[in-house]
Amino acid sequence: MEDLIRQFDHEIADAIAGETERESSTLELIASENFVSPAVRAAAGCVMTNKYAEGYPGNRYYGGCDFVDIAENLARERAKKLFKAEYANVQPHSGSQANMAIYFTLLQPGDTVMGMDLSHGGHLTHGSPVNFSGKLYNFISYEVKKESGYIDYEQVAALAEQHKPRLIMTGASAYPRDIDFKKFREIADLVDAFLIADIAHPAGMIATGLLNDPLPYCDAVTTTTHKTLRGPRGGMILIGQDKENPLGIKAPKSGRLKMLSEIIDSQVMPGVQGGPLMHIIAAKAVAFKEDLQPAYLDYTRQIIKNAQTMAEKLIAHGYDLISHGTDNHLLLIDLSNIGISGKKAERILEAAGITVNKNMVPFDTKSPFITSGIRIGTPAVTTRGMTEAEMDKIADFIHQVLSEPKNDELRVEIKQQIATLCHQFPIL
Ligand SMILES: *Cc1c(COP(=O)(O)O)cnc(C)c1O
Repeated sequence: MEDLIRQFDHEIADAIAGETERESSTLELIASENFVSPAVRAAAGCVMTNKYAEGYPGNRYYGGCDFVDIAENLARERAKKLFKAEYANVQPHSGSQANMAIYFTLLQPGDTVMGMDLSHGGHLTHGSPVNFSGKLYNFISYEVKKESGYIDYEQVAALAEQHKPRLIMTGASAYPRDIDFKKFREIADLVDAFLIADIAHPAGMIATGLLNDPLPYCDAVTTTTHKTLRGPRGGMILIGQDKENPLGIKAPKSGRLKMLSEIIDSQVMPGVQGGPLMHIIAAKAVAFKEDLQPAYLDYTRQIIKNAQTMAEKLIAHGYDLISHGTDNHLLLIDLSNIGISGKKAERILEAAGITVNKNMVPFDTKSPFITSGIRIGTPAVTTRGMTEAEMDKIADFIHQVLSEPKNDELRVEIKQQIATLCHQFPIL
């Protein structure tokens, strides 16, 4: 594949070669990243990128859709099986667009919505003022408790009573604990709000039953497909049990009561998107088939074991972990007690061959560009086959680098050792 590119475009071929080398010889600890299989990569680069297929299988605005229909039907059926869902829409180009389609389905501009504060673990699309969500809707943010680092469910209930949101978003990008969706449902019912779970990060462990399942409690669930699900970059919307006339409209214009699933379909396309990315949908189907194999259950178990091993080791080294540990694939570390900002930690760790991202911590006093913390995730290193023994080593490397922020030589030396370690766990 790279040779084909090189014949025509050596600049892009060089960039791809550089990225291939970076991925293979450094430690990828960004919690939202993963390495897809060669089959997923091949499907993502297949001829279906050539096809326009606006609409849904069996009901397209274009001819010639027989084969892309097969791909999309397989993706939908596998997604439903994976999550025990009644409905799946696999067309959203990204997690953000899945959320946008849900908001367009259930809200009017100006409506009040509750979501988790960005600095407490929430996502841009959960009401950040710089995102469309914060601009279109009146978002009220809930937080985690300062002492425990767990979601403050009493605050969620009090804010819901006070603001009467039309919709409550659950789910996060930097929350290391499992979420009590049943409790969220009880709160939503008290104020007659829709409840949506955005499981972009922990979707894989939810699919394999290792974390709480939101589908029985939420009106709809959104996710990405490229994080723990280990598929191509993209989004998806699921419904556990479809509902008739979810908006409670007595006489809809169409003259019939619409199912929630039908309204969501119409908001994904034409509401927020045009033609679906059929090559990516084919790659989603391949990834979901992989996720349905027994080996994927083992993989998701190992992600959690690895994260917990790393958490214990870093706590032993004196690090301040938000919520003092993890239930899932990620750790959030507050570096205030060692006097290094998240920005600086990200930079010096990268120089040593360890890729993490700076991250706000709850009640952060630093700006989003500096931050007091870093986020670390284990999905990508677990895909390489690394287990507890390697997590111990990685935690030691992190500690060495952060203990001597001025030591350039140490970083060069550690980068070497990490390259050696990485080459023992090649990416397929
Ligand atoms: C990653 C993420 C998204 C969006 O993903 P994109 O595909 O980058 O748009 C949405 N919600 C949460 C909670 C996420 O972590």
